[in-house]
Order: sequence, then structure tokens, then C-alpha cells
Amino acid sequence: MRISLLGAQIDNLNMQATVKRISEMVSSGEVNQVVTLNPEYLYRAQEEGNLLELVNKSELVTPDGTGIVWACKMAGVPVEERVTGIDLMLNLMPVAAKGGWGIFLLGSAPGVAEEAAKNLADKYPGLKIVGIHHGYFMSHEEDEVVRLIKAAKPELLFVALGMPRQEQWIAKYKDEMGVPVSIGVGGSLDVIAG
Ligand code: UDP
Repeated sequence: MRISLLGAQIDNLNMQATVKRISEMVSSGEVNQVVTLNPEYLYRAQEEGNLLELVNKSELVTPDGTGIVWACKMAGVPVEERVTGIDLMLNLMPVAAKGGWGIFLLGSAPGVAEEAAKNLADKYPGLKIVGIHHGYFMSHEEDEVVRLIKAAKPELLFVALGMPRQEQWIAKYKDEMGVPVSIGVGGSLDVIAG
């Protein structure tokens, strides 16, 4: 079930159900975009209609932030629980390791994704990290980054370019990349890199 908050449709799924939905997306082989919607994004989206449209075109939208959970409650349409980008990413890791899904990490300063990948591989044995690229590339290098991701054929693509650029980037290239599930994860790679 989707809940409407300030024009954005949010999926009312707890973490477990969200992970399950993403597993189904991976099995489907179709292309999906996941947005973890935080209050900053929703606030900006009130002024920038294209940001709202992007959310509502996404296949899965999670309530990221206590502000969103609180606002849904106040609006009389409570969501089950907060599902943040980093929590979702970490909850997907054991499932990905078990399922043999390929993971691609895109974004953050050079070296950060490598460090994050190392920590994830240590923590989740068997995790298949099929590609890494930092997030400080120029617009004329975008095609090359897209080509890299396409060639790596990941099941999950985590994009840490900051909000809303990461959401716009996924929306622009998702069909070309053909990745089953792409998720914008903000500062998560920095956190995982430690
Ligand atoms: N970032 C990036 N390229 C850029 C700008 C930012 O890769 O051109 C990365 C940045 O290094 C950080 C991540 O995007 O790891 C998220 O940045 P921030 O915390 O500002 O975004 P938010 O969490 O607010 O979406």
C-alpha cells in the first residue's frame, strides 16, 4: 500500500518487507529504482516538480527519516517504520551474499568505495562486489561510467552522489544500465568506509 504525503507516494513497508520486495525485483530481471525519501528531498520537491515526479515514477519509495514517519502519522496515514538508505543497504548485504547477487558501488570520494567494499566483504563472506567507481567524474565521463556498470552486470547498484543528483542520475541512466535494482544511498559509503 502507498501513502501520500505532500504529493509523494511512499510505500508502507517495513524493513523486512522492503528487502523482500527488492528480492522480487532482482528475480524479475526488470529495471527498478528505489528512493529512500528523506525530509530534505520532500521539502525541495515542493518547489521542484520534476523531483516529485521522479519519486512517483520510482518503483519503490521508502520513508527515510523520522520527520517523514512523524508527518505520515500526523496526516493520519502512519507508516510501519523508518527505512533509511544505510539500513536498507546493510540489510540487503546478507541476502545478496546468499543469493550471489553482484553489487556495484558508485560514488563518494576516490578510495572511499574501495574501503567500504573491503569492510562489506569482510563482514559478509561471499559477497560479490563486481564494480566500484568514485563519484567525482565530469559530465563527459558519464557514458564511460554507465558502460562500466553495464559491463559489470550487477544485480544491485548503490549510488552515493548526494541527493537529489543520485536519484536524477539513476532515473536518467537506469534503462541504459539495465540493472534490476538501483538505490540512492547518500553518505552511506562514507559511513561504511569508517
Ligand atoms: N558525492 C559524490 N560526488 C559529488 C558530490 C557528492 O560522490 O559530486 C558524494 C559525497 O562524497 C558523499 C555522498 O555523495 O559520499 C553523499 O553526500 P552528502 O552527504 O552531501 O549527501 P546526502 O546524504 O545529503 O544525500
